Amino acid sequence: MSRTELSSLGEFGLIRHLTEHFPVQQKSTILGVGDDAAAIEVPAGMIAVLTTDMLIEGVHFDLSYVPLRHLGYKAVVVNLSDVYAMNAVPAQITVSIAVSNRFSLEAMEELYAGMLAACEHYGVDLVGGDTSTSVSGLAISVSAVGFVEKARMSTRRNARKGDLLCVTGDLGGAYLGLQVLEREKKVFLESPGVQPELSGFEYVIGRQLKPEARRDLVQFFSEQQIVPTSMIDISDGLASEILHLERNSGHGMVIYEEKIPIAADTGRVAEQFSLAPVTCALSGGEDYELLFTVGQSDYEKISANPSVSIIGYVDEPESSSRMVTRAGATIAITAQGWNAFS
Ligand code: ADP
Ligand code: MG
Repeated sequence: MSRTELSSLGEFGLIRHLTEHFPVQQKSTILGVGDDAAAIEVPAGMIAVLTTDMLIEGVHFDLSYVPLRHLGYKAVVVNLSDVYAMNAVPAQITVSIAVSNRFSLEAMEELYAGMLAACEHYGVDLVGGDTSTSVSGLAISVSAVGFVEKARMSTRRNARKGDLLCVTGDLGGAYLGLQVLEREKKVFLESPGVQPELSGFEYVIGRQLKPEARRDLVQFFSEQQIVPTSMIDISDGLASEILHLERNSGHGMVIYEEKIPIAADTGRVAEQFSLAPVTCALSGGEDYELLFTVGQSDYEKISANPSVSIIGYVDEPESSSRMVTRAGATIAITAQGWNAFS
């Protein structure tokens, strides 16, 4: 494969080269890349939500098994997931990168191809960013803007006693995908000639490398006129997110182990790693599903959605969150989510 040095284009040439194929899809985009700031029109009656995330090579991703195209896609998706978690619809993103001369233009093209795919899939516009050199490695920061009618916004705060606690999709897969990739990396480092053994692990690896954000749920809420009383996206494991809802609402949550959705593929891989599938769901990370509470009056609408599982309910104020196991025991839910500083 040919290698073009980033320095050969200059900063402006590089920005133009990487961003020129991004389409403008949103009416609210007044000005995109190329001015001092982007200009966004907030539609009448809406409020804007804004979120940002930073991804650092060696901390958040490992390029020995993460293809740059997937990394670009995921960097966008994890931001959009935060916007959806506010019950908002994402419209614009900015992307800032710091990149060392280890990376070629072709590598950056791969990264931006992944970001373009995500922008097209979710209908969001890339409207700006910043480009810097780094001494070593790659850092990516994505910010996203979304819009929601004021009365429809969902925060982490307003869960009420008796609300249903629900989750989309299935949990634990992304964590196991990471375990498989880490295992194969170790094998490769020990004996570089050996081909990685990835067959049978497609589902969990896909959950790790190519997560999707739950746009469908926000659309469903809008069509069904449901406003969740609280919502959060699952980036650090179910247990950690439940404790966020508890802390922010002042109400404990009760969940039932048997109701936690876990894909058959995830269960099978967990067994191979001698892990309990429910532990992967509670304490694994990066599933990017949505966890939310709704009033009991929405029970029928919610239970008609096949991608939603009702896993429990909101308890009394000042109660502590807990899980009822399959065996009928009650155990406290503790924070075992990813600790950013460990
Ligand atoms: P300034 O020096 O005024 O911040 P820049 O030269 O950094 O301007 O950026 C010029 C334009 O290109 C701006 O619209 C900026 O948002 C955009 N831009 C810069 N870097 C990126 C990037 N990595 N991805 C997308 N847009 C970018
Ligand atoms: Mg700048």
